[in-house]
Amino acid sequence: MTTPYSDILQQLREAFPQPVSNRVHDAYFVFSFLRSLDQVDAMKSDRPLLGESEELDYHAAMQATVADSPQNLEAVTSQLVEYLSGLFIWGHPRSQINVVPSPTIPSIIGGMLPSIYNPNLVSDESARKIAVAEVEAIAMTADLLGYDTKQAGGVFTFGGTGTLLYAVKIGLEKACPGTQQTGVSERAVILCSDHAHYACTTVANWLGLGEDNVIRIPTTDDNALRPCLLESHLRDVLKSGGKVAAVVATMGTTDAFGIDDLEQVREIVDRLADEFALDYRPHIHADAVIGWAWSVFNDYDFESNPLRFRARTIRALAHSSRRIRQIPLADSVGIDYHKTGFCPYISSAFILRDRAELKRISRPDETMPYLFQSGKYHPGKFTLETTRSGSGPMAALANLRLFGRQGLQSLLGHLVTMAETLREHLESHAATTVLNRENFGPVTLFRVYPEGVDTFTVPKRERTDPGFRDELRKHNEYNRRVFARIQEEALQGRGVVISLTDCYRESEYGEPIVALKSYILSPFSDAEYVDAVLQSLWDARKAVANDI
Ligand SMILES: *Cc1c(COP(=O)(O)O)cnc(C)c1O
Repeated sequence: MTTPYSDILQQLREAFPQPVSNRVHDAYFVFSFLRSLDQVDAMKSDRPLLGESEELDYHAAMQATVADSPQNLEAVTSQLVEYLSGLFIWGHPRSQINVVPSPTIPSIIGGMLPSIYNPNLVSDESARKIAVAEVEAIAMTADLLGYDTKQAGGVFTFGGTGTLLYAVKIGLEKACPGTQQTGVSERAVILCSDHAHYACTTVANWLGLGEDNVIRIPTTDDNALRPCLLESHLRDVLKSGGKVAAVVATMGTTDAFGIDDLEQVREIVDRLADEFALDYRPHIHADAVIGWAWSVFNDYDFESNPLRFRARTIRALAHSSRRIRQIPLADSVGIDYHKTGFCPYISSAFILRDRAELKRISRPDETMPYLFQSGKYHPGKFTLETTRSGSGPMAALANLRLFGRQGLQSLLGHLVTMAETLREHLESHAATTVLNRENFGPVTLFRVYPEGVDTFTVPKRERTDPGFRDELRKHNEYNRRVFARIQEEALQGRGVVISLTDCYRESEYGEPIVALKSYILSPFSDAEYVDAVLQSLWDARKAVANDI
């Protein structure tokens, strides 16, 4: 016999937070969460992952159906915990995989509070003071970057890709006014470096510009856009009557931490805009989703070095800071707090130097008659999203307050110190070579070579000499094998998990160069784990040599 609905309802009510203060039920809520955390804790070991990395069964997943009867909260949450099995613990010092941070506790709580009460950032009628949190987090960040906060403003959105989408949308509207109504009817391009994120291509595709209209400018050895080539490509576009939807300067590339010279980009764009007497100024966007955090060093006194970083660290930080401090020259900037800001996903902001430019993408009021009847702040008038979560801004606000400038300086300074320590070792060893030598962030791209290869000359010849194509391919394969070995060991709890990039960049004759990659982002990283990377490298090298 089926239970009457009233009993089912009664049971389900237990699964909701109580609308009126009920401390006994609060305890049940918290305790339920605690039990989940306990279960997760039981999945931890010395290894940098939760539980076991199991074979993923999509076939079974596709057979899933909804059951007839409800399950209780305890059963459901404990089933959910099982899905964490095999996840990397990004904050583990033995994990140096990618630009994925371990979120801080305040940012986790900041992200969770809105998920209990569901403020909707479409407007301040439904978000109340969480709307203030968004404005505050954006103001703090704009100020950190060096924008004039009387003018700057922005919104949180769905990731770094979202920030680029906003930038190009606004830039397109500047270059080709009216496309909101009429659609794109003329050629409009995005110019960016060949190391820019593929999100530039995604955006060109989704906005209807077409992927073929992304012009990728070749980069220098330090993985930054070549300004002279930007100038010639830009000139070609303008000469042929094309429009410029946006020029994207990447301030911290994903793999190598290359930073474009924004000052030169600005100079070139302005000069050509004048020369061609354009009736608009091409929009310059700084894709600083990774590099933004280095703006905490804008005012750091590298001479007196109050936080007492090592000399090598100071040199690295000062080098990056030189270009990061140029960000205010861009018309807009993209920020991922969920990368170098140690926030949970998703926490990304799009910030404009002049927030009035949001008008260019605003919907007229009459299309949204059911919203905005009261209140003052209505981001829903210009956001792509309708419902927007308060989790991103609250998490960002949590960390901006937790860290302050000095906290983030110390954290980033430590990560860079660790990366520099790794480089010191890799540079001093005959079998290894650092590839992104001129990029001084937390990421190190390197290659390892078999016994007997002269690493003083070979890496350079691989990069430049077409006669070395076969060598390059052979060593690509060698690095893949070394990587596979390191990975295997690391998953058993020995050594460190690093990653591999299939094409860190192309050789001058168009062949992909494979690189090993260490991305140090754990606050718990320490010199001993840097040594562990080297130890795993030597072990893997031996194992691979024995295999042959
Ligand atoms: C990660 C990244 C993006 C995309 O950001 P998401 O938050 O993953 O959407 C864009 N640009 C750069 C340089 C990135 O590293």
